[in-house]
Amino acid sequence: MPGARTARGVETVAARAGDLATLDDAVSCCRACPRLVDWREQVGKIKRAAYADQDYWARPVPGFGASDAAIGVLGLAPAAHGGNRTGRVFTGDRSGDVLFAALHRAGLANQPTSTGPQDGLELYHTRIFAAVRCAPPANKPTPLERDTCAPWLHREIALLRPTLRVVVALGAFAWSAWWPALAAGYGLAPPVPRPKFTHGSLWFAGGAPRLLGCYHVSQQNTFTGRLTPQMLDQILARAKQLAGLR
Ligand code: SF4
Repeated sequence: MPGARTARGVETVAARAGDLATLDDAVSCCRACPRLVDWREQVGKIKRAAYADQDYWARPVPGFGASDAAIGVLGLAPAAHGGNRTGRVFTGDRSGDVLFAALHRAGLANQPTSTGPQDGLELYHTRIFAAVRCAPPANKPTPLERDTCAPWLHREIALLRPTLRVVVALGAFAWSAWWPALAAGYGLAPPVPRPKFTHGSLWFAGGAPRLLGCYHVSQQNTFTGRLTPQMLDQILARAKQLAGLR
């Protein structure tokens, strides 16, 4: 499939995707952000020494999980040697290790680890996706890159709309990415002023999924104890409750 090469192209191709599989294929071929295309491919060639014998994915990373998800987990962007290496979101780095172990404890995954596309992992009632689909240098996409990539997320939200009840925003970047998604996917004007991100904060408006804030599962948070496994368990339990899951 030829990939989108401009912001306008992303909008057009995303809008045409009639199901998640088509959307995922289209995301995987996108080349709309020159800086991120260069970076993801350069990382895939230079590699980290520990992964020198592996072929990196080095492309945009689509969402992963149930196509009838009631819970969405929204992250920032793939990690250079994690999702950008394995091709699956949050897979192959310490952040993902923490997240998938928690999803398994919550009964939302069939196994506690995610190592790659062939590992047999299944998520229950849950889909994970990112606000930006290519690994950015220093984990920092520019505002233009964020906005260029947004239609992929917006289309994913629209396709999940019949079942989606809760979105867990991992960190302030994901929290702020929700407001344009709300407008695009639900036709709802974002609240003014925007609710602030905090761990455990909850926002909702009629007809839209609940938005639940959670500190990001980054090593910066999990190694320092800012986000503990117990805190993550509480967030996922709350998400299940809000989604009407047992
Ligand atoms: S960040 Fe998004 S819009 Fe930009 S190249 Fe990657 S997938 Fe395409």
